[in-house]
Amino acid sequence: MPIFAHPEFDQHEQVMFCHDKASGLNAIIAVHNTRLGPALGGCRMWPYADEQQAVNDVLRLSRGMTYKSALAGLPLGGGKAVIIGDPRKDKTEALFQAMGDFVESLGGRYITAADSGTGVTEMAQMGQRTRHVVGAGTREQLGGGTRSGDPSPATALGVYIGLCEAVRQRLERSDLSGLRVAIQGLGQVGFNLAQQLSAAGAQLWVHDIQEANVRRAVDELGAHAVSGQDIYGLDVDVFSPCAMGAVINDETLQLLRAPVIAGAANNQLARPEHGDVLWRRGCLHAPDYAINAGGIIDVSYEYNGGTPEQVRQHVEGIGETLRQIFERAKAEDRNTTLIADSLAHERLNA
Ligand code: NAD
Repeated sequence: MPIFAHPEFDQHEQVMFCHDKASGLNAIIAVHNTRLGPALGGCRMWPYADEQQAVNDVLRLSRGMTYKSALAGLPLGGGKAVIIGDPRKDKTEALFQAMGDFVESLGGRYITAADSGTGVTEMAQMGQRTRHVVGAGTREQLGGGTRSGDPSPATALGVYIGLCEAVRQRLERSDLSGLRVAIQGLGQVGFNLAQQLSAAGAQLWVHDIQEANVRRAVDELGAHAVSGQDIYGLDVDVFSPCAMGAVINDETLQLLRAPVIAGAANNQLARPEHGDVLWRRGCLHAPDYAINAGGIIDVSYEYNGGTPEQVRQHVEGIGETLRQIFERAKAEDRNTTLIADSLAHERLNA
């Protein structure tokens, strides 16, 4: 399998294939770019059908991290790790310790974090072998301060700030009272966002495949429950995708009516050209990797040190980044994701 000629290869600095016979570990670490600092990015565990899929994922996701950190103004580069295995049955302490050894062998060029299929437990197991890990404990276990171990509150704060900025730009209002927002996904980020919006006076319509999450939002926040696909076509001011990727696609574009889309989910556009469709119809879309950067900002301070106030101020900067993206999109008449890519590229090469 060629790497240098791979369609997802984009001048990656280093791609390391990791194998440990004793624990059965098969993993790949990709360091995309360390120009702005060490490469930080999650370690995903996934039952990839074949090695090719794992390579695709690690190359694509590590590049995305370079852009995300650059756009967020962090002293970090982009990297990612993937472990080939089923997180429901293949996890062992020995496997994550072996992974920790490989991370350590990079001497801090790559810093790992939790991702799909991994969490605090696995980060703590890797942390037995390497210092280059974030999110390996709770705020209390880590001694308070900024070391939270859970980046989702910071992500939710950034999404809230970004959503407010999009509403200000597109709907010309700074008061959220009575604003109608549809939220898809009420997990760690979505529910926290719902709480902030509700406290600011917004009206909520919500959907989650887990009934208990919907019930909680209805009971605690007075949200309206919506079933399945109905969440897309509501006559609301904002659609906030906080569940999974590719939710802006050929089918949902027929349904979506909200003038603003602002949510936490990664990779919201199924294809890049869907960004043009939104732009042409006057829907202001907050690019996902700009608005959901609160989590990476939080873990960056966890690794490098800093006060909770510094984290908060940096997360609040997401509003200013989005303001620049929106204004430039208007000036250049180009969709917001293209503008975010340009801005990240400029910061990377400044
Ligand atoms: P989570 O797993 O806690 O929550 C996701 C929620 O979405 C769950 O409640 C789940 O039941 C629900 N869901 C799944 N499929 C759904 C569907 N088809 N329709 C409606 N609901 C559905 O995840 P999270 O940490 O809240 O993250 C939410 C999104 O934000 C993800 O896409 C994640 O990649 C992205 N993100 C999260 C962070 C973070 O700090 N947690 C940072 C950046 C990006």
